[in-house]
Amino acid sequence: MMFKPGIHHVTAIAGAPKRNLDFYVGVLGMRFVKKTVNFDDPGTYHFYYGDETGQPGTILTFFPWDHAAPGRVGVGETEETAFRIPEASVGYWMHRLIMHGAPAKREVRFGESVLTLRDPDRMRIALVAVPGIEAEPGWSDGTVPAEHAIRGVHTASLLVADKTKTAAILTDVLGFTEVGSEGAVTRYRAGDTAIGGLIDLHEAGEFFKGRPGAGSVHHIAFRADEEGQAAMVQRLAEAHGIRTTPQVDRDYFRSVYFREPGGVLFEIATEDPGFTVDEPLDVLGQALKLPKNYEPHRAEIEARLPVLA
Ligand code: ZN
Repeated sequence: MMFKPGIHHVTAIAGAPKRNLDFYVGVLGMRFVKKTVNFDDPGTYHFYYGDETGQPGTILTFFPWDHAAPGRVGVGETEETAFRIPEASVGYWMHRLIMHGAPAKREVRFGESVLTLRDPDRMRIALVAVPGIEAEPGWSDGTVPAEHAIRGVHTASLLVADKTKTAAILTDVLGFTEVGSEGAVTRYRAGDTAIGGLIDLHEAGEFFKGRPGAGSVHHIAFRADEEGQAAMVQRLAEAHGIRTTPQVDRDYFRSVYFREPGGVLFEIATEDPGFTVDEPLDVLGQALKLPKNYEPHRAEIEARLPVLA
């Protein structure tokens, strides 16, 4: 593989757009990497948060809808999205989250300290203390000092009734290897990818099904280059009988989608062209960006979008 396998981005559904923005930028200190619209519903936003450069593996995106009904976590859905923080920053984050009214619980998983919390839509978020990552760059202009800033995605945890077939897709198609288990959770790692390199499968047996809505993850995107994506599409069809959608141009990446056997919606996104394709790095996320076919309708679209100020 010429690319690093692993998670490209996680996309979720949220309620009020401004509340979502205030939490991820104002409390978690992520960079607002792209402000655009839902390409399938241009009267609503699509927000992208990430690190300073918006590199694959750091991206969490939302479709925020003012009147979205709450979702419910269940099988066939992502249970939690975890981010990496430096080990020495746990005290800082405990304090910060209390001060912002989102207190975290502390636990240990796979030998690492984990802070678990809920976002304003009750979506499950975790911050995992990772040793030895202090020198990785954190966003230098965020609301959190760079030394304590989030360093990309740690794990996406998927809740499935039975892990067998989902695990086969991870290991046979997407470049992951089983690396350990703890209770009902089995962990998979993508090569030596540090950022966005882990998927946990939480086997729940006969548990209720998830219901999409505010606070639930819509899909998990994995990364590839153009050739890698084509090879994955072929492998899915030939070895697993799974057909993907045709490739869709998302302006910042080109994607195919498929429902994995455990019920979770997966995407395979190309690493290129990335978020600097339509605006320079130093002003990422400031202007509303529209796909070319919507540009003639900018005035109407802007008038319909909720006010963020
Ligand atoms: Zn996506």
